[in-house]
Amino acid sequence: MSAAMAWPLVLTILGAIFGSFIGALVVRWPAGRSVMDGRSACDACGRTLGPAELVPLVSYVVQRGRCRGCGVAIDRRHWWIELLAAAIGGAAGLVAPGWEGVGGAVFGWLLLALAALDLTAFWLPDRLTGLLAAAGLIAGAAGFAPPLTDRLIGGGFGFGMLALVAWGYERTRGRAGMGGGDPKLLGAIGLWLGWRMIPAVLVIASLIGLGVAAFAHWTGRRISRDTALPFGTLLAVAAYPAWIAMIVLAP
Ligand SMILES: [Zn+2]
Repeated sequence: MSAAMAWPLVLTILGAIFGSFIGALVVRWPAGRSVMDGRSACDACGRTLGPAELVPLVSYVVQRGRCRGCGVAIDRRHWWIELLAAAIGGAAGLVAPGWEGVGGAVFGWLLLALAALDLTAFWLPDRLTGLLAAAGLIAGAAGFAPPLTDRLIGGGFGFGMLALVAWGYERTRGRAGMGGGDPKLLGAIGLWLGWRMIPAVLVIASLIGLGVAAFAHWTGRRISRDTALPFGTLLAVAAYPAWIAMIVLAP
């Protein structure tokens, strides 16, 4: 097999494996349960889920989406996260076959965990955002584009801009308009993409948010502050395609 095909394949498989851990993290961490005892387990009986139970189509056909041990329906987040993690790995391997693609996949997997946690638990854990930031610095030090200077400016620019917006909102409205984790997340994203990509990430995130709101309005669902997508989720969802675009469009 050619190296060009091996990278997407290997990163897709790695994504499915890491997706299993990310799913366990997203389901268990906000509930205060240990995430250290490994892979996706049945949330009812604790049995470790096998590959056939984690792949949506297979699981539906084989046991109708239920745990083979106790028969309780498996939390769908395990499946979505598993699938998305595999897709993130495959995409990184396609656009950047090699170690740069491995770095991009790590970026995407960490973003996936943050997006899912903010979406389901309205929580961007500092430890995870910190890991994203540290990994961005390591990728820059390893020589992957953008250069370390662009990344450092991007970190300061991303964090500073949202921190300023949050401060201004709170001052004029008298209440917090965004989560405290959002400026830190955009800072960590800046450490990966560099300052040039920050406006693009903000525009893509806003467009996705508007699109989701328009769709909810169109289908007759009421949209309120509580049903709106968390901004951290929008930032994370926007940042990965921005990384892909940066790699593909690089001169
Ligand atoms: Zn079970």
